[in-house]
Amino acid sequence: VFAGLAQAPEDPILGVTVAFNKDPSPNKVNLGVGAYRTEEGKPLVLNVVRRAEQMLVNDPTRYKEYLPITGLADFNKLSAKLIFGADSPAIQENRVATVQCLSGTGSLRVGGEFLGRHYHERTIYIPQPTWGNHVKVFALSGLTVKTYRYYDPATRGLDLKGFLEDLSSAPTGAIVLLHACAHNPTGVDPTIDEWEQIRQLMRSKSMLPFFDSAYQGFASGNLDKDAQSVRMFVADGGELLMAQSYAKNMGLYGERVGALSIVCGSADVAGRVESQLKLVTRPMISSPPLHGASIVATILKDSEMYHEWTVELKAMADRIISMRQQLFDALKARGTPGDWSHIIKQIGMFTFTGLTSEQVAFMRQEYHIYMTSDGRISMAGLNAKNVNQLADAIHAAVTQ
Ligand code: PMP
Repeated sequence: VFAGLAQAPEDPILGVTVAFNKDPSPNKVNLGVGAYRTEEGKPLVLNVVRRAEQMLVNDPTRYKEYLPITGLADFNKLSAKLIFGADSPAIQENRVATVQCLSGTGSLRVGGEFLGRHYHERTIYIPQPTWGNHVKVFALSGLTVKTYRYYDPATRGLDLKGFLEDLSSAPTGAIVLLHACAHNPTGVDPTIDEWEQIRQLMRSKSMLPFFDSAYQGFASGNLDKDAQSVRMFVADGGELLMAQSYAKNMGLYGERVGALSIVCGSADVAGRVESQLKLVTRPMISSPPLHGASIVATILKDSEMYHEWTVELKAMADRIISMRQQLFDALKARGTPGDWSHIIKQIGMFTFTGLTSEQVAFMRQEYHIYMTSDGRISMAGLNAKNVNQLADAIHAAVTQ
């Protein structure tokens, strides 16, 4: 019955790995997917995660029972505290409804579906460019997806003027997707002063912020610093949505651990919002998975384990920052034409190199270096061994 079905295209990001796996070259380098790699190029399970897992396995009172529809209660409370801060007025006033979801993607999807059903304005504005899956997640949620200007290719920095102009001409009450920190794919974040301008404009137009936080702690190495943008929007007493992922900052990619929080106007509203979120989750996945959320809750509620996590998280962030410097230095040493200072200015997992799709194809062909066609490279895939190969490839691509 499916004989007439067309072959679906590969996902533009995950498809890079498919192509990489087919390449027989022993020198191939995958800078496509946003997953952390050690200096040896290996995936990393944090020590504190291993410890938490051991504790869970050794605890005979732990069963494999279903979680409630909203997920693990401790995990939800601790997740809201992590992103909003322990002293957050919204938490103290019980105005936050949090539900456990399938990592960041699931949190965006549940939030999108909730807005499609219950929010009066159906248009969501997402940055141009953004993580490719945003468009599909929100379109499937029944929202109309439009873009706002974000990145200026000329400066390889923020197009604040374009950003504010596009929000000014958007309808009152529109939903606006914001990357909390470490914008993917550009690595360009607003400064605190720029966030303040964005916040004022959005609040004056009663727009609804939908924050996507996939990199808390991964950008600067400091969990509070990376949550500053979000906390500014909570401090003003307004409402917002927050999608949190533990994929990167705890290295729990495949465990699919995340949370959606909705900051509401009152505790009473938060209760009703939670009841409606249950109606979204139940027919989608019934209830979320137990294991990953138990790992996160174990770490977050124990001050010693929490501290160990922050140290390991900072080490990951620092290694990425050091790879930025090494790549920048390697290009300078080669005298590669162009201003490459954006490599050290941008933050988070990715560098938006500014390389064209032709140059990206050339580097794949000639140097077996794989990245997305928009010229985004995952800094986490770089190490002392392959950074020179990348610099050689970039040099050849821009001088060919
Ligand atoms: N948002 C952004 C901006 C991302 O970069 C990612 C991961 N690449 C996600 C959300 C979702 O990731 P996950 O579903 O693995 O948590």
